[in-house]
Amino acid sequence: MDKVMLVTGASRGIGAATALLATERGYAVAINYHRRRDAADELVRRIRAAGGRAEAFAADVACEDEVLKLFRDLDQAFGRLDVLVNNAGMLERQMRLEDMDAARLQRVFAVNVTGSFLCAREAVRRMARSHGGAGGSIVNVSSMASRLGSPNEYIDYAAAKGAIDSMTIGLAKEVAAEGIRVNAVRPGLIDTEIHASGGEPGRVERLKSAIPLGRGGQAEEVARAILFLAGDESSYSTGTFVDVSGGR
Ligand code: NAP
Repeated sequence: MDKVMLVTGASRGIGAATALLATERGYAVAINYHRRRDAADELVRRIRAAGGRAEAFAADVACEDEVLKLFRDLDQAFGRLDVLVNNAGMLERQMRLEDMDAARLQRVFAVNVTGSFLCAREAVRRMARSHGGAGGSIVNVSSMASRLGSPNEYIDYAAAKGAIDSMTIGLAKEVAAEGIRVNAVRPGLIDTEIHASGGEPGRVERLKSAIPLGRGGQAEEVARAILFLAGDESSYSTGTFVDVSGGR
């Protein structure tokens, strides 16, 4: 039976590229989306047309009830889980700390931090040997923002990704003996719609001269690092990070 990978936030961008590459590598994929059902359905159609197996499931990862339902749907459709890619993430309009209110901070931490924790918890409950599972792998999608801090843009988002880095290190140690590896990628400036949601669609173009490789990255380049960490090619790595940032 094919290995099963759940990719959160897979309707667009890095998540969609990861789901596509995973099916090329022989995984059956569960595609979680939040609002863009049209894009998720189109991705499922594309994967099936190429002979792969995919199902789309709606869920807001920040909502515990919806995460529980997502994993119940996954159990029903696939009956197993080998890899979780904690990719769903968001940021809000660029601003300085002086202008951030509590509601914004709650939204940013709920999706990026709580969402990743809840999905990791449900994955561990299925993968851990002590729960009767067969082991597995979790790949968190952090960001170079956790190292750089994103001043004047979104230090809340950067701090949320810092929490993901710490979770990666701690959870990796916590579940290593359960047969589960936990690693993370830290993308830099990747050409996706996330920059438009921060209010600056041309952000990659503006900042690319500061990147040693001289260009923004593509979602597929991040997907390749995620697939490396997901599978047996990285069998002796846990609690570690692959920066996909053009040297920045
Ligand atoms: P994107 O193009 O904006 O796509 C975001 C994806 O996350 C969409 O599929 C969206 O679903 C989903 N999503 C958002 N909120 C969600 C929620 N509450 N529950 C479930 N899904 C949710 O972003 P991207 O650039 O591909 O980013 C993917 C990941 O990479 C994020 O964790 C981001 O922080 C990280 N990252 C990106 C960059 C970059 O430069 N692009 C750099 C560093 C890290 P819908 O479309 O259905 O709403």
